[in-house]
Amino acid sequence: MQKLRWHALLQQWVAVSTARQNRPQMPANWCPFDPGSGKVPDDYDVYLYPNDFPAFAPDVEPFDPHAAGLFGETGPRGACDVVLYSPEHTLPPSQLSVANWRKVIDVWTARTAEHATNPDIALVAVFENCGEAVGVTMPHPHGQIYAMPFVSPNVQKELASAKQHADSHGGECLLCSLIRAELQDTRVVAENENFAAFVPFAARFPAEIWICAKRHMRTLIDLTDSEKNSLAEILSIIRKKYDNLYGFLMPLMMAVKQAPLRERDVPYHFHLQFLPLQRSPNKLKYLATIETGYGTFLADTLPEDMAEQMRRSEPATQPSR
Ligand SMILES: [Zn+2]
Ligand SMILES: [Zn+2]
Repeated sequence: MQKLRWHALLQQWVAVSTARQNRPQMPANWCPFDPGSGKVPDDYDVYLYPNDFPAFAPDVEPFDPHAAGLFGETGPRGACDVVLYSPEHTLPPSQLSVANWRKVIDVWTARTAEHATNPDIALVAVFENCGEAVGVTMPHPHGQIYAMPFVSPNVQKELASAKQHADSHGGECLLCSLIRAELQDTRVVAENENFAAFVPFAARFPAEIWICAKRHMRTLIDLTDSEKNSLAEILSIIRKKYDNLYGFLMPLMMAVKQAPLRERDVPYHFHLQFLPLQRSPNKLKYLATIETGYGTFLADTLPEDMAEQMRRSEPATQPSR
């Protein structure tokens, strides 16, 4: 069964995809993403691989927003892809070269541009789950792209905040003002010509970092060639800092957040969010009842202190797994 069901209390869609339960347990010495597996080209740098167990798929019933209701159900028409960052099975993403990251960004951008012409797609979510603590069983360096037929709740909330800010500040973009303010403050971790990386003022996760475009832009499609190079460069720096912080692969979630494809009148600002789950060298951050049941985050580190630690975390040696 592959459906979207309406969560009436939270007013959001839940993607029910029972085929995902039957995902095969991978044999220990075989990886479908490795050259020679028969599933990917024998020679590749970066490769877009259609997800074998997609939560959103092009060949299912179309999404109907009017299906929202007490027991509302509709089709999850969309697409799910896996982005293979490298053919090297055990290469941690922090060890990808800047040129390699640039190729990853090009794949993200090309896929976003393709989805932008498809009226079924409302939002292109580019992301990565990294590390066993985030539930990743496959060490092969990869991220994902979900093309969704609706705007996800957090992006909806960000849009509403952006709209409210613009309405009360003469049309100004919320994130443009926030970035200006952060660049004057103490939480900046890294910066280059086109991007700034900082621990946000009210970080919810330990060592949470946002990478924001300095220029106002909505989606990956808006990035110029030199902005893509700048993004590759700062991505490489931040990933190295994360793995160097405790000397092992930092379990984290990376969300590349772009404006919804069809809502052109709200100033949504392109940015990346890193949500790490390690709160000290030997303790994980769990999303427990107050976070998951109530939606309020408890942070046990001061964002200013984490920014200082991340500034000092310089890439040194290859992190162990
Ligand atoms: Zn592999
Ligand atoms: Zn902006």
